[in-house]
Amino acid sequence: MEAMTTWRGSCHCGAVRFEADGELEGLEYCNCSYCARAGFLHWYVAPARFRLLSGDAALEDYQFGTRSSHNRFCRTCGVTPFRRPRSDPDKVDVNVRCLEGVDPEALPRRTFVGIHWEQAILDR
Ligand SMILES: [Zn+2]
Repeated sequence: MEAMTTWRGSCHCGAVRFEADGELEGLEYCNCSYCARAGFLHWYVAPARFRLLSGDAALEDYQFGTRSSHNRFCRTCGVTPFRRPRSDPDKVDVNVRCLEGVDPEALPRRTFVGIHWEQAILDR
């Protein structure tokens, strides 16, 4: 069995801490009204490869539009370290910018044209 990399991540104040296993592949930028503002760099991880270590009680759930995504942000620092996305509701959508030891700008990513969501999910 192939050994997987384990990444550690957190919100800014450190109340929310998590780990995720796997390679940083299939990353996406999304230009929807939410992600453009948040600067989210998406990495979709199976729930079995994600562990919330602390901070469940610190997380609020922001929803908008179709209310099909859950954008969980820290109530102290406001950062969204992960979310449950409309595009991949069976995955945890980790914000690569919240991982330790990662240069997000050095990683290949594609753009998800979230401003035209229905077409973008077909084109993916
Ligand atoms: Zn925080």
